[in-house]
Amino acid sequence: MSAAILEDAVALAGRIARGELSARRAVEVAFERLDRLDRRLNVFLAVDREGALRRAGELDARRAAGHASGPLHGVPIALKANMCFEGVESSCASKILAGYRAPYTATFVQRLLDAGANPIGMTNMDEFAMGSSSENSAFGPTKNPWDEARTPGGSSSGSAVAVAAGIVPIALGSDTGGSVRQPAALCGIHGFKPTYWRVSRYGLIAFGSSLDQVSPFARTVRDLELVTHVMSGTDVRDSTCLDEPALNLEDGDVRGLRVGVPREHFPESLPRDVRAVCEAALATLEKLGATIVPVSLPHSHLAIPTYYVVATAEASSNLARFDGVRYGTRVEGSGSLQSMYAATREEGFGPEVKRRILLGTYVLSAGYYDAWYGRALKVRSILRRDFETAFEDVDVIAGPTSPEAAFRLGAKSNDPVAMYLSDVLTVPVSLAGIPAISVPCGFVTVEGSRLPVGLQIVGPNRADARVLRVARAFEAATDFARALPPIHAGGAA
Ligand code: GLN
Repeated sequence: MSAAILEDAVALAGRIARGELSARRAVEVAFERLDRLDRRLNVFLAVDREGALRRAGELDARRAAGHASGPLHGVPIALKANMCFEGVESSCASKILAGYRAPYTATFVQRLLDAGANPIGMTNMDEFAMGSSSENSAFGPTKNPWDEARTPGGSSSGSAVAVAAGIVPIALGSDTGGSVRQPAALCGIHGFKPTYWRVSRYGLIAFGSSLDQVSPFARTVRDLELVTHVMSGTDVRDSTCLDEPALNLEDGDVRGLRVGVPREHFPESLPRDVRAVCEAALATLEKLGATIVPVSLPHSHLAIPTYYVVATAEASSNLARFDGVRYGTRVEGSGSLQSMYAATREEGFGPEVKRRILLGTYVLSAGYYDAWYGRALKVRSILRRDFETAFEDVDVIAGPTSPEAAFRLGAKSNDPVAMYLSDVLTVPVSLAGIPAISVPCGFVTVEGSRLPVGLQIVGPNRADARVLRVARAFEAATDFARALPPIHAGGAA
């Protein structure tokens, strides 16, 4: 029965629409798998069992009464724990928001509900989406289903694993500097960051507001297309949101397409086997009719320092609202209001979040603002221009998503800079605000474990449909995305 969830959402919704499976049964299967795997992999921070069963019942009743089904009718999905879904706990994996229940529903969640999707719970993550391994969660790390001693990537760790482990076919993450593409790569599934302006951020608890983007995970590209299509479009509650109705999907293949390969995305330090897998993936695109063109993104080396000024500046301002008054936990301190703020934030935030608030406050402070934040904004424009120049010559850009396959839990947890470098290939794209997908493109063997590798395909501003078209062509020509992690063995299907 669990096989139902190993189908993609499109197939599952089709079966439910035809009456071959009820929405109730679909969500029960998701919970069966969750109950079997969650304790082991630490995927969910909050589960909305009652709500999901009630919604499934309503969906079944609606179908029985002959009302038209939405394209995701009855499909169980998972949300990251930094998303607002009315009445459900959204802790951002932080002690400061433990027990906090969202008072309203995010626009993108509402659109998915309107299409018939059924959220089953909120997934584990790095605290406030700051991290690349899940080890910054206040509630313990999520495990990679390909090797449980390794990270699934981060920060959208639980959502990546919820899909990779076959609990749900679709899960949402948020991608600020790579938090969906990198875990998708490390877990062997697809993860898509749309153009910055495409999906409303209303109801996404903010980290870096000029970078944050709601981004889906799925096993197939057509599921990503469907979910993005459903979520995107203008929203009066988010003025940065594009006034475009939705995603105009493109048919067709990659014949005649020019694929740029930036030499900066194949650094000397890239492990040989990861390089070989990515080069083979580029050769596949070439076989499908694309032309491979060397390009350069000459300022890529400035992306990580720039990101850690821009993102921390925005985070320090966004996280100022967690003061013990308006949300979540309060620690009284020694009686004054100031000491209550300090005690609450001291107790509530983990070390990485504190580090970033301090850094962000520093780069925004009077006297340092121009030297740090002002300068970072200028470099950000230069990085954006690097992409624009490259896209004068090519249609998409491709290279590895992550500089390595899944690393061991603990391997970088005492070295923030090493951890930050996990995003060296995804952060430039985030700073430019452009769309990118990670597609499963092969495997490497590290210390005896077979681990997935992802290829990042990047498009120009608003060319989301083109990026997805290339991914679809690659997916159709290969079977890496159909490989299942060992966790599926032993009674999964
Ligand atoms: N790993 C990066 C960071 O720690 C990106 C996080 C994200 O995209 N949310 O900031």
